[in-house]
Amino acid sequence: MFDCRICKATINEDEIFVLEERMYNTKQKFDYGTCSKCGCVQIAKIPDNLGSFYESDSYYSFNMGSSLIKNFIKWVFFRAILILPFRLRVKLIMRLRKNNTALLSVLHFVSENSKILDIGCGDGLLLKLLKAIGFKNLYGMDVFLSDDRCINENHLKISNKGIDAIDEVFDFIMLHHSFEHMTDPNTDLINISNKLNPSGQILIRVPIAPCHVHEVYGTEWVALDAPRHLYTYSVDSLTIMAKNANLEIEKIVYDSEGIQFWGSELYKKDIPLVAALGKNIYKYFTKEELADFESLSRELNEKKCGDSVAVYLRRK
Ligand SMILES: [Zn+2]
Repeated sequence: MFDCRICKATINEDEIFVLEERMYNTKQKFDYGTCSKCGCVQIAKIPDNLGSFYESDSYYSFNMGSSLIKNFIKWVFFRAILILPFRLRVKLIMRLRKNNTALLSVLHFVSENSKILDIGCGDGLLLKLLKAIGFKNLYGMDVFLSDDRCINENHLKISNKGIDAIDEVFDFIMLHHSFEHMTDPNTDLINISNKLNPSGQILIRVPIAPCHVHEVYGTEWVALDAPRHLYTYSVDSLTIMAKNANLEIEKIVYDSEGIQFWGSELYKKDIPLVAALGKNIYKYFTKEELADFESLSRELNEKKCGDSVAVYLRRK
């Protein structure tokens, strides 16, 4: 048994189970437990060598770039739209990128001059897109990023330092599927809260339990992602942490996507997620199947039982 690192309740032996590493299918085994008090699913012992589970280049290639021609067309497009007034530009992008959940979760809540920090930004794909749209105060950090992937240019800075290394405050701090990777989320959320302008907003997008696909797929639910996901939060556990950080939850939007189904289906068939990156996904699923997964996800989100949420927080 071990103590829940969120609410301190005891997680007993009968609440502990084994999860295997499945993204690369190394099948390394890790003990996890579900807290019966706050509902948070968490790893029993945080591995000493966590960084080694992120070292592969393919980890970040989930955000794979497009071909040169596509990139050129994008470049021309983003140059062209700069003649539009800012609000109109944002409206146009929201319509054209209506399937980009991460982008939409941000654009609704920020303005042209917002100072935005993306924690766990990876290669900075979202920040680069925001820069192309015309945002000018963009910062990113990802402690697992190698030095050569860091960026220091006009309007956009990306570092591999931790939150403590930044001596500034932000209007909008966002964590897109990175909070579940943090070893000490209670302390981290307090530190994040301290970097927020008093009127600012925090956005945390994370997998959430309980949810429909966890019930259906059990330990093969793709979002459990052992050992990278140290925690799969419940709304209760997020509420406890928010309170400790002098924050309150303003809004929760269920934003799960088709990967909850196709990723879990792959695991059921013993296929690693990395085998289905980019266009390889069509080796395993038809376009119709993938469209069905997206439509099922939208239905689950409406019923508040999709497998991920966008949580918006403000200072109390
Ligand atoms: Zn707990």
